[in-house]
Amino acid sequence: MSEPNPCLDCGICCTHFRISFYWAEADDAEGGFVPAGMTEKLNHHMRCMKGSNDVPRRCAALAGTPGSAVLCTIYEHRPTPCREFPVYFEDGSPNPKCDELRATIGLGPLRPLFPLPEAA
Ligand code: SF4
Ligand code: SF4
Repeated sequence: MSEPNPCLDCGICCTHFRISFYWAEADDAEGGFVPAGMTEKLNHHMRCMKGSNDVPRRCAALAGTPGSAVLCTIYEHRPTPCREFPVYFEDGSPNPKCDELRATIGLGPLRPLFPLPEAA
């Protein structure tokens, strides 16, 4: 049986980081995939998700209430930094940054996906 996705009641990383990426990831460039209307220009080379460079910070693609129930409305088209931020590492251990962020909204730490090897 698989564990439920811990991101679905969290979402705090989507309100914490500026989500910036190479401009051509947006879909007004050939081969781009992130909805351009949800992005804004940072400089000649980079864009970010709307809302993620504001105070308070919150990505415009995030729906719901962080710490309760959330959804990325462009999940299949999310930019690279979102794809590359791991909840779990390859050995099944949780990302400590997730636990740090989750604690700020009262969520408990993540459990390892499977028992970690004992230290020798
Ligand atoms: S902080 Fe970690 S657990 Fe929370 S939504 Fe982001 S990736 Fe998922
Ligand atoms: S694009 Fe989706 S996964 Fe990335 S920060 Fe925005 S809501 Fe979160």
